[in-house]
Amino acid sequence: MMCDLLLCKPLPALDIAASRRVALAERPTNALSASSSGRSKRALGQFSKFWAPGRTLTVGFFNETPVEHQAAIEKVARQWLCWANLKFDFVDSPFADIRIYTGGEDNYSQVGTDALLASPMDATMALGTKPDDPLFGRTVLHEFGHVLGLLHEHQHPKADIPWDVPKLYAYFAAKGIDQQTVDINLLDKIDKALAKGTAYDRTSIMHYSVLQEQTVGDWEVGINHTLSRRDRKFVRRIYPEVVA
Ligand SMILES: [Zn+2]
Repeated sequence: MMCDLLLCKPLPALDIAASRRVALAERPTNALSASSSGRSKRALGQFSKFWAPGRTLTVGFFNETPVEHQAAIEKVARQWLCWANLKFDFVDSPFADIRIYTGGEDNYSQVGTDALLASPMDATMALGTKPDDPLFGRTVLHEFGHVLGLLHEHQHPKADIPWDVPKLYAYFAAKGIDQQTVDINLLDKIDKALAKGTAYDRTSIMHYSVLQEQTVGDWEVGINHTLSRRDRKFVRRIYPEVVA
């Protein structure tokens, strides 16, 4: 089963103004200067969604989830905290900052501070991949990367993936996924200001796997299961130790 290529959809903020407001209230440096992003009008829609360094995020489960399953998610998610100065407080409450739904098959997450905008009646993350799935660890790391405000690496402004676009559309169309969704989650490049000067990293946990048959020529990316060196370096830079 080509489950490695199922889409994880970071949920788009429906209200950009509110998304920007909560991001800047959390951390003023989430505002990107107009000069770094080109035209100022465009820059208004370009801001990062990182949490304040040192912040504690409560994490809870939205639906009834076996304790072993919860523990497996927590163990993997905490890998990020070896590098990022944040805290996860796993709580027995469906009203936590990060609310995980494990009941379905989809995997997706709000990006960073957008979780604050989600209705308390909604989950902020879906983790449908179960602990006995070989992709479980990768999926949990990837979705928690979105929690930390990270975007898709294959959409890095310097990503040089030679997509065979008609074949890519056909692949996802067969799964009932339309072209616009493919564009948003795979093909559209993120603004270079949001890449924060990092180099493109095809070993990033935030990179989808790419099949040979979906590219032109000899090009593919396997399934990345672990945090890459650059993933670790990046979150350490974004979430540094706070000096008192
Ligand atoms: Zn994703």
